[in-house]
Amino acid sequence: MSVRVRVPAKVNVQLAVGGARPDGFHDLANVFLAVGLYDEITVTPADELRVACSGPYAAQVPLDRTNLAARAALTLAQRRGLDPAVHIHIAKDIPVAGGMAGGSADGAGALLACDALWGTGASREELLEICAELGSDVPFSLVGGAALGIGRGEKLTALEVGGTFHWVFAMAEGGLSTPAVFREFDRMAQGREVPEPVASAELLEALAEGDADALAAAVSNDLQPAALSLFPELAQTLEAGREAGALAELVSGSGPTTAFLARDAEAAEKVAEALRASGTCRAVRVAAGPVAGATVL
Ligand code: ATP
Repeated sequence: MSVRVRVPAKVNVQLAVGGARPDGFHDLANVFLAVGLYDEITVTPADELRVACSGPYAAQVPLDRTNLAARAALTLAQRRGLDPAVHIHIAKDIPVAGGMAGGSADGAGALLACDALWGTGASREELLEICAELGSDVPFSLVGGAALGIGRGEKLTALEVGGTFHWVFAMAEGGLSTPAVFREFDRMAQGREVPEPVASAELLEALAEGDADALAAAVSNDLQPAALSLFPELAQTLEAGREAGALAELVSGSGPTTAFLARDAEAAEKVAEALRASGTCRAVRVAAGPVAGATVL
């Protein structure tokens, strides 16, 4: 018997970053939107814990116990005194190290799949607690939809969304490490006062109303200057999308994937086509959100 779980990618429509805390982490006000680009995690009983990965990004995914899907299985098994003897297959469609929480999606997916396979009966609260242990973005991968994350981004409040937003994602050649982007943020913030991160009231209202123009005016990413500093070519991708008629363009999370908001599905296809023709990125995908979080199929 196997259990298969589908988990979406995310885009941060707002990422407000505070100054570095004494523990090195940053306080965030992080508005997540789950979008319809998915990894599928299948867990099957086996002799021992093994991870395999297929799809266009498979070569970049670690298959040892550092893989977040393996860590999720190990953590749940340890809590229940179980042997984590499962084969975890990841059908990967979310770009790796792209700022779209692909690893987090796999962690949340494997956790939900193992919970179902082993019949551990973990409560939603316990699953969320394990997700937060695995990483700041993992709880959101479990819940999906739209949410405000505070703290390191892991303390979530679900947000109301009054419509569907259409996005285009441009994958860059190469990746950016999230810790490296935060280090660059700290370097660039030296000698200036970093304000407390707060969610934008205009942005939350735009989401609630499903108003793409208002959302376009309100999106922001405090990590964008740091991502652009480490990966200056992204400026050309952002410009290509803007010229193609995107309502807004921004670096997704810590990058280097860039995200473009379009008025509707048709406009998104047009922006996607222009970005493909621009030669400023490696691949282009269209996805709408919000969508549900990790779901057993
Ligand atoms: P975020 O948006 O949460 O900052 P990201 O999308 O930028 O994350 P990931 O795709 O999650 O980045 O991958 C970051 C690194 O995590 C990879 O380079 C890889 O070494 C490691 N990793 C661990 N588990 C996985 C996994 N299941 N899939 C992809 N990468 C993984």
